[in-house]
Amino acid sequence: MEMATLVINSGKCSWGKCIFCGYGKIYKKRTNRELTAILDDFFANLKDDSVVKIFGSGSFFDEKQIPKEIFEYFVNKCRENKISEIYVESRPQFITKEKILCLKETNAKINIAIGLESAGDKILKTINKGFKLRDFENAANLIHSLDCKVRAYLLVNLPVKNRNAELEKSVNYGLNYADSIVLINLLPHENSEIFDLWIKGEWNFLSKEEFFDITSKWKNNPKIELDVETFKFIPRFRDTKILDGVGEEFLTHPYFEVWQDYLQRWYKKPAGRESVLFLPCSAKKPYSESETHKKILNILSNLDKEKYKSVHQVMISNPGVIPREFENFYPLKSYNWDEKLENEFIKKRYIEVTKKRIIMYLQSQKYNEIFCFLKYTESYEALRLACEELNLDLKNLLKKETYKKMKEERKTSIVCEEALNDLREGMGEI
Ligand code: SF4
Repeated sequence: MEMATLVINSGKCSWGKCIFCGYGKIYKKRTNRELTAILDDFFANLKDDSVVKIFGSGSFFDEKQIPKEIFEYFVNKCRENKISEIYVESRPQFITKEKILCLKETNAKINIAIGLESAGDKILKTINKGFKLRDFENAANLIHSLDCKVRAYLLVNLPVKNRNAELEKSVNYGLNYADSIVLINLLPHENSEIFDLWIKGEWNFLSKEEFFDITSKWKNNPKIELDVETFKFIPRFRDTKILDGVGEEFLTHPYFEVWQDYLQRWYKKPAGRESVLFLPCSAKKPYSESETHKKILNILSNLDKEKYKSVHQVMISNPGVIPREFENFYPLKSYNWDEKLENEFIKKRYIEVTKKRIIMYLQSQKYNEIFCFLKYTESYEALRLACEELNLDLKNLLKKETYKKMKEERKTSIVCEEALNDLREGMGEI
């Protein structure tokens, strides 16, 4: 049986205030003509007997989101296409007998999912869910009375006391009222209060390993599904201000700290990038638009294609380590650190903090080979000490003799001709 999923963003969630949800705040205006076209397109290639899952932020039964005519159009399409099973989502207040009976005209098995999140009224209040357990129970009873199935979403890792005990309570409660449960790893959405708690250090996401560890007791329960990543998780900030300055504040800024946390506990390097080449940052952002990086990239892009694809470029700077693919993300493209303003104390702190970050990063990524193209200053020192502590080999493609000569000739740029020759030669040998 084929499974087809449609994400249909239409209008706005009638509530939009759950503290963990950024999607509920988004308004997407859709005309009936657009919605009809979306459905036509979706059903065009479906096989008979397919299972259809409809996702959207808010409620499929809310007529402000899915107008009555579109709902009926959907029902007709399901009937015409002999859809065997349907999953839709709704807040309890929109789940009515009329809507369910209309959906049943499709002749498909019906599953109605409700974002219950937790089975405690106090917790529902804390996360500002906007309904109580009684509302969920009434909706679940109605769904069952009409021979349809209830699906409950529960969030793992809510910012509450006794998190694991509360989760266990919620699962047991859910099993009493729902036919299936999805345990969702709570990750910080952009534009949500939980994202702010993460930045303030008052809550933290679970790594995949931590999530599977906490939920392992339910992994073989046929009624329970585990969803470790409901959306492609990358830290996305609302803020846009430039983080401009030198000092502790800009070395361990909370925005940089959460990025490093993400890179150490969630991120996995792109497949095939077996070697890492650590590079310097640049004053101009994003890095690849600076003269320094243009020259470096020019050399790298002239490499044999396979070799180029196997090298992961990672910058070292005061935000920490920054893989090339994130250079356009805030605040990694919006900071300034003027080396001329550094004093001995901050240089020492820079090495300390950066070394720790590199250690954590290298422990989480596992490269076959480690190279860098760095002047023999603080970033290199932090990297050298990190590799030494991890007992890993490191090769700086900028030769010591070249750097010495650069200093004698007062050449400060790492992309002077002699240094670039070292890079070209070094990359050739990789
Ligand atoms: S979690 Fe659901 S109900 Fe809550 S704001 Fe988001 S879309 Fe709306």
